[in-house]
Amino acid sequence: MSNDTAAIDSSALTTGLSRKPQVIAAEAERPVEDRGEPVFSVKDLDFYYGSYRAIRDVTMDIWPREITALIGPSGCGKSTLLRCFNRMNDLIPGAHIEGQIMFRGEDLYGSRVDPIEVRRRIGMVFQKPNPFPKTIYDNVAFGPRVNGFPRNEMADLVELSLRRAALWDEVKDKLKQSAFSLSGGQQQRLCIARAIAVKPSVILMDEPCSALDPIATIRIEELMTELKDTYTIVIVTHNMQQAARVSDRTAFLTADVDDKGIRCGVLVEYDRTDKLFTTPKDKRTDDYITGRFG
Ligand code: ADP
Repeated sequence: MSNDTAAIDSSALTTGLSRKPQVIAAEAERPVEDRGEPVFSVKDLDFYYGSYRAIRDVTMDIWPREITALIGPSGCGKSTLLRCFNRMNDLIPGAHIEGQIMFRGEDLYGSRVDPIEVRRRIGMVFQKPNPFPKTIYDNVAFGPRVNGFPRNEMADLVELSLRRAALWDEVKDKLKQSAFSLSGGQQQRLCIARAIAVKPSVILMDEPCSALDPIATIRIEELMTELKDTYTIVIVTHNMQQAARVSDRTAFLTADVDDKGIRCGVLVEYDRTDKLFTTPKDKRTDDYITGRFG
Protein backbone atom coordinates (compact mmCIF):
# COMPACT_ATOMS: atom_id res chain seq x y z
CA MET A 1 0.00 0.00 0.00
CA SER A 2 1.39 3.44 -0.85
CA ASN A 3 1.71 6.23 1.69
CA ASP A 4 -1.17 7.99 -0.04
CA THR A 5 -3.48 5.05 0.32
CA ALA A 6 -2.55 4.55 3.94
CA ALA A 7 -3.25 8.21 4.65
CA ILE A 8 -6.86 7.92 3.61
CA ASP A 9 -7.28 4.67 5.43
CA SER A 10 -5.78 6.16 8.51
CA SER A 11 -8.65 6.30 10.97
CA ALA A 12 -11.91 4.60 11.64
CA LEU A 13 -15.59 4.66 12.13
CA THR A 14 -15.30 1.47 14.10
CA THR A 15 -14.24 1.16 17.72
CA GLY A 16 -11.84 -1.79 17.93
CA LEU A 17 -8.71 -2.75 16.03
CA SER A 18 -10.09 -6.06 14.96
CA ARG A 19 -13.05 -6.78 12.76
CA LYS A 20 -13.85 -9.59 15.19
CA PRO A 21 -15.98 -7.84 17.82
CA GLN A 22 -15.31 -10.28 20.64
CA VAL A 23 -11.69 -9.17 20.77
CA ILE A 24 -12.62 -5.78 22.16
CA ALA A 25 -13.65 -5.87 25.79
CA ALA A 26 -16.31 -3.41 26.92
CA GLU A 27 -13.73 -1.67 29.12
CA ALA A 28 -11.61 -0.88 26.08
CA GLU A 29 -14.56 0.88 24.45
CA ARG A 30 -14.69 3.54 27.12
CA PRO A 31 -12.73 6.68 26.29
CA VAL A 32 -9.19 6.07 27.48
CA GLU A 33 -9.14 9.54 29.01
CA ASP A 34 -11.67 8.35 31.60
CA ARG A 35 -9.26 5.71 32.74
CA GLY A 36 -6.13 7.88 32.89
CA GLU A 37 -4.18 5.26 30.97
CA PRO A 38 -1.62 5.79 28.25
CA VAL A 39 -2.85 5.60 24.66
CA PHE A 40 0.28 3.67 23.68
CA SER A 41 2.56 1.67 25.96
CA VAL A 42 5.78 0.75 24.21
CA LYS A 43 7.88 -1.92 25.91
CA ASP A 44 11.37 -3.12 24.92
CA LEU A 45 10.73 -2.31 21.28
CA ASP A 46 13.32 -3.31 18.68
CA PHE A 47 12.64 -2.64 15.01
CA TYR A 48 14.29 -4.46 12.12
CA TYR A 49 14.54 -3.74 8.41
CA GLY A 50 15.43 -7.30 7.37
CA SER A 51 18.47 -8.15 9.48
CA TYR A 52 19.30 -4.49 10.19
CA ARG A 53 18.13 -3.38 13.63
CA ALA A 54 17.18 0.28 13.19
CA ILE A 55 15.99 0.93 16.77
CA ARG A 56 16.37 -0.96 20.03
CA ASP A 57 15.10 -1.07 23.61
CA VAL A 58 12.49 1.66 23.31
CA THR A 59 10.16 1.82 26.29
CA MET A 60 7.78 4.76 26.59
CA ASP A 61 4.14 5.70 27.15
CA ILE A 62 2.18 8.14 24.97
CA TRP A 63 -0.47 10.02 26.90
CA PRO A 64 -3.94 10.99 25.70
CA ARG A 65 -4.70 14.45 24.39
CA GLU A 66 -1.10 15.51 24.47
CA ILE A 67 1.40 16.31 21.76
CA THR A 68 4.45 14.08 21.99
CA ALA A 69 7.48 15.13 19.93
CA LEU A 70 10.17 12.75 18.69
CA ILE A 71 13.44 14.60 18.12
CA GLY A 72 17.02 13.60 17.33
CA PRO A 73 19.62 13.65 14.58
CA SER A 74 18.84 12.39 11.10
CA GLY A 75 18.80 8.60 10.84
CA CYS A 76 18.25 7.90 14.56
CA GLY A 77 14.93 6.15 13.88
CA LYS A 78 12.30 8.82 14.60
CA SER A 79 10.20 8.10 11.51
CA THR A 80 10.64 4.36 11.97
CA LEU A 81 9.33 4.61 15.53
CA LEU A 82 6.45 6.85 14.44
CA ARG A 83 5.41 4.38 11.74
CA CYS A 84 5.38 1.56 14.33
CA PHE A 85 2.42 3.31 15.98
CA ASN A 86 0.07 2.62 13.07
CA ARG A 87 1.83 -0.41 11.60
CA MET A 88 2.81 1.49 8.48
CA ASN A 89 6.15 -0.35 8.56
CA ASP A 90 4.28 -3.62 7.96
CA LEU A 91 4.11 -2.50 4.35
CA ILE A 92 7.92 -2.76 4.00
CA PRO A 93 9.03 -6.29 3.02
CA GLY A 94 11.20 -7.91 5.71
CA ALA A 95 10.38 -5.33 8.37
CA HIS A 96 9.36 -6.55 11.81
CA ILE A 97 9.29 -5.58 15.47
CA GLU A 98 10.31 -7.33 18.64
CA GLY A 99 8.85 -6.22 21.95
CA GLN A 100 5.38 -4.84 22.40
CA ILE A 101 3.18 -1.85 21.68
CA MET A 102 -0.12 -1.74 23.52
CA PHE A 103 -2.79 0.58 22.10
CA ARG A 104 -5.51 1.35 24.59
CA GLY A 105 -4.79 -1.87 26.41
CA GLU A 106 -4.73 -4.03 23.29
CA ASP A 107 -1.62 -5.55 21.68
CA LEU A 108 -1.24 -3.49 18.50
CA TYR A 109 0.69 -6.32 16.82
CA GLY A 110 -1.55 -9.09 18.15
CA SER A 111 -2.42 -11.84 15.69
CA ARG A 112 -6.14 -10.96 15.62
CA VAL A 113 -5.61 -7.25 15.04
CA ASP A 114 -6.36 -5.99 11.56
CA PRO A 115 -3.64 -3.54 10.40
CA ILE A 116 -6.11 -1.81 8.07
CA GLU A 117 -8.32 -1.04 11.09
CA VAL A 118 -5.23 0.18 12.92
CA ARG A 119 -4.47 2.67 10.16
CA ARG A 120 -8.07 3.85 10.21
CA ARG A 121 -7.92 4.52 13.93
CA ILE A 122 -4.46 6.04 13.92
CA GLY A 123 -4.18 8.65 11.19
CA MET A 124 -1.03 9.90 9.53
CA VAL A 125 0.06 13.17 7.97
CA PHE A 126 3.23 13.16 5.90
CA GLN A 127 6.14 15.50 5.37
CA LYS A 128 5.01 16.65 1.96
CA PRO A 129 1.32 17.48 1.57
CA ASN A 130 -0.13 14.65 -0.53
CA PRO A 131 -3.70 15.54 -1.54
CA PHE A 132 -5.35 13.28 -4.10
CA PRO A 133 -5.87 14.60 -7.64
CA LYS A 134 -9.49 15.33 -6.77
CA THR A 135 -11.56 18.25 -5.63
CA ILE A 136 -11.16 19.71 -2.15
CA TYR A 137 -14.53 18.20 -1.20
CA ASP A 138 -13.70 14.76 -2.56
CA ASN A 139 -10.36 14.66 -0.77
CA VAL A 140 -12.17 14.92 2.56
CA ALA A 141 -15.12 12.72 1.55
CA PHE A 142 -12.99 9.91 0.09
CA GLY A 143 -12.20 7.98 3.30
CA PRO A 144 -15.70 8.23 4.80
CA ARG A 145 -17.17 7.11 1.44
CA VAL A 146 -14.92 4.05 1.40
CA ASN A 147 -16.09 3.33 4.96
CA GLY A 148 -19.75 3.54 3.90
CA PHE A 149 -20.54 6.83 5.63
CA PRO A 150 -24.13 7.92 4.75
CA ARG A 151 -24.27 10.12 1.64
CA ASN A 152 -26.86 12.49 3.05
CA GLU A 153 -24.60 13.36 6.00
CA MET A 154 -21.43 13.75 3.95
CA ALA A 155 -21.61 17.51 3.35
CA ASP A 156 -21.84 18.12 7.10
CA LEU A 157 -18.93 15.81 7.79
CA VAL A 158 -16.79 17.52 5.13
CA GLU A 159 -17.61 20.92 6.61
CA LEU A 160 -16.89 19.79 10.16
CA SER A 161 -13.57 18.22 9.16
CA LEU A 162 -12.50 21.33 7.25
CA ARG A 163 -13.53 23.53 10.18
CA ARG A 164 -11.54 21.37 12.59
CA ALA A 165 -8.55 21.69 10.30
CA ALA A 166 -8.96 25.49 10.30
CA LEU A 167 -9.46 25.52 6.54
CA TRP A 168 -13.21 25.96 6.06
CA ASP A 169 -13.28 29.75 5.77
CA GLU A 170 -10.58 29.67 3.09
CA VAL A 171 -12.19 26.96 0.92
CA LYS A 172 -15.94 27.04 1.55
CA ASP A 173 -16.58 28.84 -1.76
CA LYS A 174 -14.36 26.57 -3.86
CA LEU A 175 -15.02 23.05 -2.63
CA LYS A 176 -15.32 21.80 -6.22
CA GLN A 177 -11.90 23.11 -7.21
CA SER A 178 -8.87 20.86 -7.43
CA ALA A 179 -6.92 20.37 -4.19
CA PHE A 180 -3.84 21.34 -6.16
CA SER A 181 -5.18 24.90 -6.47
CA LEU A 182 -4.40 25.38 -2.77
CA SER A 183 -1.11 26.64 -1.30
CA GLY A 184 1.27 24.15 0.33
CA GLY A 185 0.12 25.10 3.83
CA GLN A 186 -3.54 24.82 2.82
CA GLN A 187 -2.85 21.43 1.21
CA GLN A 188 -1.30 20.23 4.46
CA ARG A 189 -4.38 21.39 6.41
CA LEU A 190 -6.52 19.60 3.80
CA CYS A 191 -4.54 16.41 4.50
CA ILE A 192 -5.23 16.93 8.21
CA ALA A 193 -8.95 17.40 7.41
CA ARG A 194 -8.84 14.19 5.36
CA ALA A 195 -7.29 12.32 8.28
CA ILE A 196 -9.84 13.77 10.72
CA ALA A 197 -12.81 12.91 8.47
CA VAL A 198 -12.54 9.21 9.30
CA LYS A 199 -12.61 9.86 13.04
CA PRO A 200 -9.22 8.76 14.28
CA SER A 201 -8.24 8.99 17.93
CA VAL A 202 -4.56 9.51 17.20
CA ILE A 203 -2.83 11.58 14.51
CA LEU A 204 0.79 10.82 13.66
CA MET A 205 2.67 13.62 11.93
CA ASP A 206 6.01 13.05 10.20
CA GLU A 207 7.73 16.43 9.90
CA PRO A 208 4.45 18.02 8.76
CA CYS A 209 5.91 21.50 8.39
CA SER A 210 9.25 20.79 6.77
CA ALA A 211 7.97 21.66 3.28
CA LEU A 212 6.15 24.81 4.47
CA ASP A 213 7.09 28.46 4.86
CA PRO A 214 7.28 30.02 8.36
CA ILE A 215 3.74 31.48 8.26
CA ALA A 216 2.15 28.21 7.12
CA THR A 217 4.24 26.45 9.78
CA ILE A 218 2.86 28.63 12.58
CA ARG A 219 -0.66 27.98 11.28
CA ILE A 220 -0.15 24.21 11.49
CA GLU A 221 1.40 24.54 14.95
CA GLU A 222 -1.64 26.54 16.14
CA LEU A 223 -3.87 23.90 14.61
CA MET A 224 -2.04 21.10 16.42
CA THR A 225 -2.59 22.88 19.71
CA GLU A 226 -6.32 23.14 18.95
CA LEU A 227 -6.54 19.50 17.84
CA LYS A 228 -5.01 18.09 20.99
CA ASP A 229 -8.26 18.82 22.83
CA THR A 230 -9.71 15.97 20.77
CA TYR A 231 -6.81 13.89 19.49
CA THR A 232 -3.57 12.43 20.73
CA ILE A 233 -0.78 13.68 18.49
CA VAL A 234 2.71 12.28 17.95
CA ILE A 235 5.00 14.39 15.81
CA VAL A 236 8.45 13.84 14.36
CA THR A 237 10.27 17.10 13.94
CA HIS A 238 13.85 18.05 13.15
CA ASN A 239 13.02 21.51 14.46
CA MET A 240 13.77 21.72 18.18
CA GLN A 241 12.06 25.09 18.52
CA GLN A 242 8.93 23.52 17.12
CA ALA A 243 9.11 20.66 19.63
CA ALA A 244 9.61 23.18 22.44
CA ARG A 245 6.71 25.35 21.21
CA VAL A 246 4.04 22.76 20.61
CA SER A 247 4.71 19.56 22.51
CA ASP A 248 3.83 18.46 26.03
CA ARG A 249 6.41 15.69 26.10
CA THR A 250 9.56 15.15 24.11
CA ALA A 251 11.51 12.01 23.36
CA PHE A 252 15.14 12.46 22.33
CA LEU A 253 16.59 9.65 20.25
CA THR A 254 20.08 9.23 18.93
CA ALA A 255 22.02 6.62 16.96
CA ASP A 256 24.46 4.47 18.93
CA VAL A 257 27.37 3.10 16.93
CA ASP A 258 28.68 -0.33 17.93
CA ASP A 259 32.28 -1.56 17.64
CA LYS A 260 31.55 -2.80 14.08
CA GLY A 261 30.39 0.70 13.12
CA ILE A 262 26.71 -0.31 12.88
CA ARG A 263 24.27 2.40 13.89
CA CYS A 264 21.13 1.73 15.90
CA GLY A 265 18.57 4.21 17.21
CA VAL A 266 18.07 4.40 20.97
CA LEU A 267 15.78 6.47 23.17
CA VAL A 268 18.08 8.59 25.31
CA GLU A 269 15.59 10.61 27.31
CA TYR A 270 11.84 11.12 27.50
CA ASP A 271 10.25 13.71 29.70
CA ARG A 272 7.90 16.65 29.86
CA THR A 273 9.08 19.08 27.21
CA ASP A 274 9.85 21.94 29.60
CA LYS A 275 12.01 19.64 31.75
CA LEU A 276 13.81 18.02 28.84
CA PHE A 277 14.73 21.38 27.35
CA THR A 278 15.67 23.13 30.61
CA THR A 279 17.13 20.39 32.79
CA PRO A 280 18.01 17.38 30.63
CA LYS A 281 19.28 14.42 32.62
CA ASP A 282 21.56 12.95 29.95
CA LYS A 283 24.63 14.72 28.59
CA ARG A 284 23.76 13.56 25.07
CA THR A 285 20.41 15.36 25.29
CA ASP A 286 22.12 18.48 26.62
CA ASP A 287 24.68 18.39 23.80
CA TYR A 288 21.94 18.02 21.20
CA ILE A 289 19.59 20.73 22.43
CA THR A 290 22.42 23.18 22.92
CA GLY A 291 23.64 22.53 19.39
CA ARG A 292 26.95 20.87 20.34
CA PHE A 293 25.94 17.73 18.45
CA GLY A 294 23.69 16.75 15.58
P1 ADP B 1 15.01 9.49 11.13
O1 ADP B 1 13.53 9.61 10.95
O2 ADP B 1 15.44 9.73 12.53
O3 ADP B 1 15.79 10.33 10.16
P2 ADP B 1 14.63 6.83 10.00
O4 ADP B 1 13.63 6.20 10.87
O5 ADP B 1 14.17 7.38 8.68
O6 ADP B 1 15.42 7.96 10.83
O7 ADP B 1 15.79 5.80 9.69
C1 ADP B 1 16.43 5.04 10.72
C2 ADP B 1 17.41 4.07 10.07
O8 ADP B 1 16.69 3.10 9.34
C3 ADP B 1 18.36 4.75 9.10
O9 ADP B 1 19.62 4.11 9.19
C4 ADP B 1 17.71 4.48 7.75
O10 ADP B 1 18.67 4.43 6.72
C5 ADP B 1 17.08 3.12 7.98
N1 ADP B 1 15.88 2.93 7.14
C6 ADP B 1 14.81 3.76 7.05
N2 ADP B 1 13.90 3.26 6.19
C7 ADP B 1 14.39 2.10 5.73
C8 ADP B 1 13.92 1.11 4.82
N3 ADP B 1 12.72 1.22 4.21
N4 ADP B 1 14.71 0.03 4.58
C9 ADP B 1 15.91 -0.10 5.20
N5 ADP B 1 16.42 0.80 6.07
C10 ADP B 1 15.68 1.88 6.34
